[in-house]
Amino acid sequence: MNLLALRPRATLQVDLGAVTANVRTIKARTAGELMAVVKADGFGHGQVDVARAALAGGATRLGVTSIEEARPLREAGLAQQILSWLNPLGADFAAAVRLNVELGVPGLDHLHTIARQAPGARIHLQLDTGLGRDGAEPVQWDRLCRAARQAERDGLVTVAGIMGHLPCAGQPGHAANALGRNRFAWGVRVARAAGLRPADHHLAATAATLSDPLSHHTMSRIGAGLVGIDESGTVALRPALRLTAPLVTIRSVPAGTAVGYGHTWTARRATRLGLIPVGYADGLPRLASGRAEVWVGGARRPVAGRISMDMTVIDLGPDTAVSVGDCVTVFGPGEDGEPTTAQWAGWAQTLEHEIVTGLSARLHRRSTR
Ligand SMILES: *Cc1c(COP(=O)(O)O)cnc(C)c1O
Repeated sequence: MNLLALRPRATLQVDLGAVTANVRTIKARTAGELMAVVKADGFGHGQVDVARAALAGGATRLGVTSIEEARPLREAGLAQQILSWLNPLGADFAAAVRLNVELGVPGLDHLHTIARQAPGARIHLQLDTGLGRDGAEPVQWDRLCRAARQAERDGLVTVAGIMGHLPCAGQPGHAANALGRNRFAWGVRVARAAGLRPADHHLAATAATLSDPLSHHTMSRIGAGLVGIDESGTVALRPALRLTAPLVTIRSVPAGTAVGYGHTWTARRATRLGLIPVGYADGLPRLASGRAEVWVGGARRPVAGRISMDMTVIDLGPDTAVSVGDCVTVFGPGEDGEPTTAQWAGWAQTLEHEIVTGLSARLHRRSTR
């Protein structure tokens, strides 16, 4: 038994050096500033750790979804500018001013509420550049810009930025990208005509930053790319996660043995079955049952039967040289042959984003630099 490989529990290792390296790689592709988007606990990798690692790689700002998500960053002593872009009208906008957090403004209701409740706020006007999800519709844009200029004149807000977000940046040839870029350029012109002079114009997230230089403005907002997810497929970013788990038990079974809930898998030959203490409550997608593989004993081995809430059975094969306590790699960067989170996403018919943000707090975490 390899004692060095022994870990007593399921462990999620986070390689923060990979985050820093990814930011450097992306920074080499654009002249603009980089905002590190550390929403959803830094894409499941640990918000404050990821923020620090990204700043070390050359990011200069931070971005989050809600005001509440900004709080731990300030409590950790990070003093960089932070932008929060999704808050309901009842949010604590005054807290945003106290925390020195800039606010995304998608329409007149938000503008007026923020001006009233949080005088002194720094805001970024949000234009819908084709996502049909958030941001002001083009027909409302001119009015929003003029109202924001009036609020600025009244000393209530400062319009620090204009932002858009592209719907199909992962498909560089998609017609929606050119439409979104053109609409954003138009939005910037309308804002200028209204008298606004925002220093920041930002449209591109990871995929557009890597694949579409025309989408670069003064800044890019990078989330997925921090943690090695590259929808554009154009550069080798480094995945930062490795999930390992020890073999709790190993049993030898005859051909014909059915395994797991619903008996969806039956041993076609005599084999050995290993049990690992991770399941769908830890974030392994149950939908990957029947397709997923892990890395153990120097080889890929299939998951046998359905992934359960707390445990998963591996078909080790009849003569694999592994013992109880040995370490199974559920996913990792892929360098040694282990599956990646991208592969798990494929097995579960989803995208890597959902795999990495769905990993549970129950997993023991270890970060390395
Ligand atoms: C999540 C998010 C980003 C980051 O996008 P990635 O593709 O993960 O880099 C940027 N902007 C907004 C508005 C977002 O919600």
